[in-house]
Amino acid sequence: VPDFPKPGILFKDITPLLSDADCLALALDLFEQRWRPDGVEVVAAIEARGFIVGGALADRLGAGFVPLRKPTKLPYRTRRVEYALEYGTDALEIHEDALEGSPRTLVVDDVLATGGTAAAACRLVRESGGTLVGTAFLVNLAFLEGAKKLSGIPIQALVEFP
Ligand code: AMP
Repeated sequence: VPDFPKPGILFKDITPLLSDADCLALALDLFEQRWRPDGVEVVAAIEARGFIVGGALADRLGAGFVPLRKPTKLPYRTRRVEYALEYGTDALEIHEDALEGSPRTLVVDDVLATGGTAAAACRLVRESGGTLVGTAFLVNLAFLEGAKKLSGIPIQALVEFP
């Protein structure tokens, strides 16, 4: 979708993939195959579109689900990281006790763009004591080189835009 949410941004909308049962199942199959051997105990997904795939994947993997939310949304005590976006700045929060026991944690979101959000999510997971096993995305906008911000962290992206 061109010029959403701002002029100059070409927005990769995942709703057609989500509304197609076969396509959604295939995406979850591919995520599940990649991460099952890693013994994922928690899927930590990024608000809001990451929740959709992350929740379903957590169930597939027999893992728990932890939301990484925009500021002031979580009710209990939180830890926060701030970061730069492709369009603006933002912050993510996690419940400070969400990753007690250092569970093996997979970070999930819909789109990897500049990588600022995913890098912040990974930092939040690690600072909260989680054992970060990798990151999974439906789409990687590879021309924005977000993977560079995740150096050393395994990345799965189902669709790459070179
Ligand atoms: P970034 O921090 O630049 O990697 O941005 C990633 C976050 O912003 C993800 O949560 C995406 O949902 C969203 N996002 C950024 N750019 C786009 C885009 N061009 N199309 C769709 N979503 C995007």
